[in-house]
Amino acid sequence: MRVVLVERRLGSEPSRLQELAALAETLKCEVVGAIEQIREPDPAYQIGRGKAEELARLVKTSNAKRVIFTNQLTPSQAFKLSTLVGVEVIDKFQLILEIFAMRAGSPEAKLQVEYARLSYELPRVRERVRALLSVEQPGFRGRGEYEVKVHHDMIKRKMAILRRKLASVATARGQRRKFRRKRGFRLVALAGYTNAGKSTLLNTLTAGGAEVDDMLFTTLTPRTRAMRASGKILLTDTVGFIDGLPPWLIEAFKATLEEIYLADLVVLIVDIAEPIHEVLRKLRASREVLAEYRVKVVTAFNKIDKLSADEVEKKAEILQTIPGEMVQISATTGENIPQLLEVIRTNVWRGD
Ligand code: GDP
Ligand code: MG
Repeated sequence: MRVVLVERRLGSEPSRLQELAALAETLKCEVVGAIEQIREPDPAYQIGRGKAEELARLVKTSNAKRVIFTNQLTPSQAFKLSTLVGVEVIDKFQLILEIFAMRAGSPEAKLQVEYARLSYELPRVRERVRALLSVEQPGFRGRGEYEVKVHHDMIKRKMAILRRKLASVATARGQRRKFRRKRGFRLVALAGYTNAGKSTLLNTLTAGGAEVDDMLFTTLTPRTRAMRASGKILLTDTVGFIDGLPPWLIEAFKATLEEIYLADLVVLIVDIAEPIHEVLRKLRASREVLAEYRVKVVTAFNKIDKLSADEVEKKAEILQTIPGEMVQISATTGENIPQLLEVIRTNVWRGD
């Protein structure tokens, strides 16, 4: 699907357009344009009225079918924008929900994603109730108000049912891991921020590797493949870490990271070509998330081909203080990939 991306931010805020583009590509969207505006949020359109009109023209000339904002949109902003531009307008969080829905493999993850979707919808329905109440049309008001109220109550009932179901989902993770290990297989999960290079590295590490027998691993996703030259080591891609997830999305995110619970080893991929403070911040945030899973982690600093040897060395020195093994690689040129394969091999069989 052809999409246009939009971001409104303050001059002091970092741009999130690149991350949004990577997220959109995860859903196989084709980014055909982007609009950025530095200003305070506009209550009506999030961006300014003039920018919104420019967006409408861009959507038309680029033949886009959807607009995605990095900013969270209120229901009325989304409605006004889509009326103006003539195609569906969503925000980053709706996009993330779609990605989680696509990635959710386990019953628990599916329930958590549905729960998050309803959590997102609920305040929006509430806002519609308020909007209806403020309209001075006594004749029509009663009926619409009633319907929205019914919808609202239905969402709350569904959420209560989901909460009960979630409490009773028996997580058979431990058993599944044992089953796989008994057959001599090990699972390595590739984790890291969106755009770090997880999918590229998965391809590099599995090029020429054997097909994984689906029958044995029905619980694993199609993104699981055998590592090259080590048929018993399986590699799997995971959903990327995303900055600034709102609380209602956190549980769905964690459940979608199921493969990390199942993994014997995690390769944390970090884009070392980013400014060093970003590298450090993302490294710390990732490690904090991974600490909850009590799984062994090795770090792969990716995209060294974008830096000079000098720059790599300088950054590596700063990053030396980070615990655990690390390798500097390029997933695209293949530099140091043999080293990474060796680090994976030794770590994944250790501790048996
Ligand atoms: P993911 O979101 O973590 O799965 O990241 P992707 O594998 O989709 O990669 C994101 C972007 O980074 C793509 O445009 C890749 O081509 C690029 N990329 C990945 N690895 C490297 C690398 O080693 N060097 C360079 N220069 N680009 C890379
Ligand atoms: Mg990816």
